[in-house]
Amino acid sequence: MSTNPATIDKLKSWLEFYREIGLESLSLNQVGAPLTSYMHQQEGRSVVKETETRTTKETGSLSLFEAELGRDTDDSLEKIREDIGDCQRCKLCSTRTNIVFGSGNPKARLVFVGEAPGADEDAQGLPFVGRAGQLLTRIIESIGLTRQDVYICNVIKCRPPNNRFPEKDEITACYPFIVRQLEVISPKVICCLGAAAAQTILKTKSSVGWIRGRFQDYRGAKLIVTYHPAYLLRNPDAKRVVWEDMKKIKALLSDS
Ligand code: URA
Repeated sequence: MSTNPATIDKLKSWLEFYREIGLESLSLNQVGAPLTSYMHQQEGRSVVKETETRTTKETGSLSLFEAELGRDTDDSLEKIREDIGDCQRCKLCSTRTNIVFGSGNPKARLVFVGEAPGADEDAQGLPFVGRAGQLLTRIIESIGLTRQDVYICNVIKCRPPNNRFPEKDEITACYPFIVRQLEVISPKVICCLGAAAAQTILKTKSSVGWIRGRFQDYRGAKLIVTYHPAYLLRNPDAKRVVWEDMKKIKALLSDS
């Protein structure tokens, strides 16, 4: 095992996270997963096995989803980004710096969907790179994955001024793109972070507290809702619950 300072910092950060979520003792197994993940990352390898067979899409007729959006079957993330273009579909275009499309593994088995970019994301054009993003990184690593293994995106691609909750017309304008992203990536598990993502994708008004923690079917994937990392920064006690949700995701991903 390497003893370089970066590895030790990383390990400290995981241990802090485990302590914050209420774990007072750790099995070697628990410590081992993120550490192994990190070591593999350092060696330029991904821990996610490329053995997954993607669900075959219906052919011959338009799926319900395709009919809803009126699109073709050879969609791709590149095409979706091209279609977004220099988007002027809603008022957020006048205050944004960058469109934040999404990042990570285009064939990810696990996709995290957040609300909308904040100031750091708007400045860098990347999702979840601020404080909430750093916590999300630790959450991902706590189940033995890295940000490069998963895909991270938002339901809204442009920052709402002062990080206010996205408005209805903004959600309506952006909605087709997140649905297309999910369809193209076709992950095994989708994890909605917070109310905006959950309510938009599931078309529900239910609160996160009500719908979190159990898998639902969503267009061939299993979808689970959990608390947003920004909420966890304000309510650290909820980290324990998120940890429970993450363990369920890990178990489902290890299942096949
Ligand atoms: N919060 C989100 O919902 N998304 C981001 O990308 C950053 C913060």
